[in-house]
Amino acid sequence: MIDVLIIGAGVVGASIARELSRYKLSIAVLEKEEEPAFGVSKSNSGIIHPGTQNPAGSLKGRLCLEGNTLIRRISGELGLDFKEVGELIVAFTEDEIQRLLTIKSEAETLGVPELKMVDKAWLRANEPNLNPEVIAALYAPGAGVISPYRLVYALCENALKNGVKFYTQTRVENIIFTNPGFEIQTLKGVFKARYVINAAGLYADEISAMVGVNDFRIRPRKGQEFILDKKKENLTNHLIFPLPSKVSKGILVIKTADGNPMIGPSAEEVEDKEDSSTTEEGLKKVFEGAKKLVPSISQDDIIAYFSGLRLAAALAIGSQTTALWPAGDDFIIRYEDKAPGFINVAGIQSPGLTAAPAIAKMVCGILEEKGLGLEKKEDFICEREKPIHLFNIPLSETEELIKKNASYGDIVCRCEMVSAKEVEDAISAGARTMDGIKFRTRAQSGRCHGSFCTTRLMKILSEETKTPLTAITKRGKGSEIVKGERTID
Ligand SMILES: Cc1cc2nc3c(=O)[nH]c(=O)nc-3n(C[C@H](O)[C@H](O)[C@H](O)COP(=O)(O)OP(=O)(O)OC[C@H]3O[C@@H](n4cnc5c(N)ncnc54)[C@H](O)[C@@H]3O)c2cc1C
Repeated sequence: MIDVLIIGAGVVGASIARELSRYKLSIAVLEKEEEPAFGVSKSNSGIIHPGTQNPAGSLKGRLCLEGNTLIRRISGELGLDFKEVGELIVAFTEDEIQRLLTIKSEAETLGVPELKMVDKAWLRANEPNLNPEVIAALYAPGAGVISPYRLVYALCENALKNGVKFYTQTRVENIIFTNPGFEIQTLKGVFKARYVINAAGLYADEISAMVGVNDFRIRPRKGQEFILDKKKENLTNHLIFPLPSKVSKGILVIKTADGNPMIGPSAEEVEDKEDSSTTEEGLKKVFEGAKKLVPSISQDDIIAYFSGLRLAAALAIGSQTTALWPAGDDFIIRYEDKAPGFINVAGIQSPGLTAAPAIAKMVCGILEEKGLGLEKKEDFICEREKPIHLFNIPLSETEELIKKNASYGDIVCRCEMVSAKEVEDAISAGARTMDGIKFRTRAQSGRCHGSFCTTRLMKILSEETKTPLTAITKRGKGSEIVKGERTID
C-alpha cells in the first residue's frame, strides 16, 4: 500500500510530491497526460505575485505571500531562473489613486513588504514606455517571474530523485473508499493508498465526487495571452497591471522569464474544460487593454498565443440536489472527514503558481495532524544541477561548452539558440513529446514556430527514445505529427 497518492502533476501536485519526498514515505503521482505540466500549469502568466491583490484574511493571500518567499529558495536549490522584476499597478485618475491606497493598505495588513506609491516623475524615469496619462502607481518590488513549466519539471525531477514514482498517461477513473485507505482505479491498473491528495486542477470536482464529496464545482474561466517578439524584450522594466476588476487582475503587460513580453490574460467564463481556443475577439480585447498601458505595443510584434483556464471554484449552497453554485473566491484545501485520508486541493486559481510551495507545506501539515508520521530522510537530495540553456549564458561560456562537447555547437533551433545537446538533455530528463521539448528548452518557441527545427527535433526524439517517427506526438496520443512513412522509389 502506497502511503500518499497524489492525483495531478501540475505545479500543485509536483510541489506536494517534492515536499513529501523529504520524508520516509512511499509516494506516487498519477497524471492523465503524457507529461507533467500539461494542464493549467503550462498556460499562465508565470508571475510570482507579491500578494498585493488578495483579501487580507484569505487563504490564497497568506499562501501567496509565503509562496513568494519559498519560491526564491526553491529556485536556488533547483537551478531555476527566478527574476525579481517588481510590479506597478497604475492609476489614471485621482479616484483610481484612492483605490490604489486601499489595495496598498490591505496588502500591508496581509504583510506584503516594501510597497510604495510612485509618481509621474518616477514612472517617466523608470518606465519610459508607460502611457504618459498614468499619474501614479503602486510599486511592489517583490513581484517576480519564472518559467512555469520549467518550475514543474524541476520539482518533478527532484521528487523522482528522492524516490517519488510518477505514472503518466494514467487517468484516475474511480476511487473506492476502503476504510481505511483507498483503491484508485485507472486504465493502467489499481493503486492502493492510505492517503489521497486531489490536485487534479480542472477535474478536482469530479475526482472529489468519486469519494462522495461534491459540494463544489470547478468553473473554468478562460484567459487568452499573446506573446511578443523577443526583440521587444525591453518594452517594459516591470510587470504592468491596471486596477483589478472583481473577477481578474485585468489585462497586463508582462515581462516573462525568457525575455518575450506577453500581454493578457482575458477573463471569459466558459463551460468546456478542454476549450483552449484563442479568438479574434480575445485578441482585440487584450490588445486594447495592453495598449492602454503601453501605447507603443503593435500587433505586428505578436508571435504566438495560447489560452489557459483558471480553476475558479463555485461552492454549493443548500442541499447538493438543489444547490446554487455561486463563485467561491478562495482556494479549497481541506481534509475530508467524510472520506478520512482524502485531501482536496482544489480551486487553485491565480496566484496558484506562486502559492504552490506554500500549499505543499500546508498539505504536509494536514497529513501530519491526521496521523501520517513524517520522519525526515537523511539522504534527501535538496539540489538539482542547473540545466544549461545557451539562450541565457554569455557567448564565451558557450564556446567553452562546445570545446567540451561539440553537440553544444550543433544549433537545432536558431530562433532561440537551442543546441542538440540541450534537446538530448531534455529527453533524458523525461521529455517524450514535442511540447515537452519546447517547454524544457524553448526550441520551437521563436518567431518561426518550429518551421526550421521541427523535423530535426522529431528525428532526435525518435532516435533517443527508439520511437518510430510516426508515433512522435505534439502533446500525447491523438496529436501525431506525421501520418505514415513516405517511400521514394
Ligand atoms: C491565464 C492564466 C494566467 C495565470 N497566471 C498566473 C500567474 O501569473 N501567477 C500565478 O501565481 N498563478 C497564475 N495562474 C494560476 C495558476 O496557473 C494555477 O493556479 C496553477 O497552475 C494550478 O495548478 P494545478 O496543479 O492545481 O493545476 P494543473 O496544472 O491543471 O494540474 C492538474 C493536473 O491534474 C491532471 N488530472 C486531471 N484529472 C486527472 C485524472 N482524472 N487523473 C490523473 N490526472 C488528472 C491534469 O492533467 C493536470 O496535469 C494563472 C492561470 C491562468 C489560467
